[in-house]
Amino acid sequence: MSARNDFHVHSNESDGQLSPEMLIDAAIGNGVSVIAICDHDTTAGVRRFVQYGRSRNIKAMSGIELSAKWRGGNCHLLGIAVNDGHEPLESVLRKTRESRDRRNSLILEKLAALGINISPEQLQSEAGGEVVARPHIATALLKGGHVNSIQEAFAKYLSHDALAYVDRFRLEPADAVKLLRDAGAFVALAHPRQMSLGNSELFDALITLKKAGLQGVEVYSPDTSDEQIHAYGEMASALGLPPTGGSDFHAPGRGGREIGFYRAGVPIPEIRIPGLV
Ligand SMILES: [Zn+2]
Ligand SMILES: [Zn+2]
Repeated sequence: MSARNDFHVHSNESDGQLSPEMLIDAAIGNGVSVIAICDHDTTAGVRRFVQYGRSRNIKAMSGIELSAKWRGGNCHLLGIAVNDGHEPLESVLRKTRESRDRRNSLILEKLAALGINISPEQLQSEAGGEVVARPHIATALLKGGHVNSIQEAFAKYLSHDALAYVDRFRLEPADAVKLLRDAGAFVALAHPRQMSLGNSELFDALITLKKAGLQGVEVYSPDTSDEQIHAYGEMASALGLPPTGGSDFHAPGRGGREIGFYRAGVPIPEIRIPGLV
């Protein structure tokens, strides 16, 4: 069996369920020998992850997942092997987290104005220790009988331009790439599918991001069809950007994702990132 790798997992320092140490143990259990933690907007779990990985003889790398401004989809950037404690990055991360927390209370205020009362305490309990975010508000709306599904909660209240939508602080994609490069990271575009672009627009976006310093494309990612993987692989190769892969693992059983696999039973191919592995 070849060595498995995974360049995109989340811990309970962002919206994952497992601690950094538990992630390492689970990775080893799945035969993974190279792994990067990429929590949303925080490097809080990085040090423990790297240290514990060293003690367990697995190549455990630092990382971060930054959300950049993007209409109609998600533009998430992975900063693999980012320098822990890079002050310009940490200051943007603090600003991002503060803005996200403020956003939750602003959403609750908008909902209250619509006659829907959800308390901050209720949200905390929905989150069960995770970072409170819109999915928890959606769950509270569902439980309160205000909507019939999570999808409806987003469509009616929480999505862009919906009744209780509140924007939050995000960098422009090119600025996010530059910031991560300055922090010493290998920067890859996460789950390109979520940009919600056709192939030719995606290719244009990759050209623009490459000019800003993008170095890789997460070609192997969950919920991505074989056709998409093929197309992303061709684009990455045409631009000289190495393909990367990640499970985007959050919790056992969630989304059928397992560390080291981009699809049930299909391991992420062995990946070479110049200068890293
Ligand atoms: Zn993401
Ligand atoms: Zn992710």
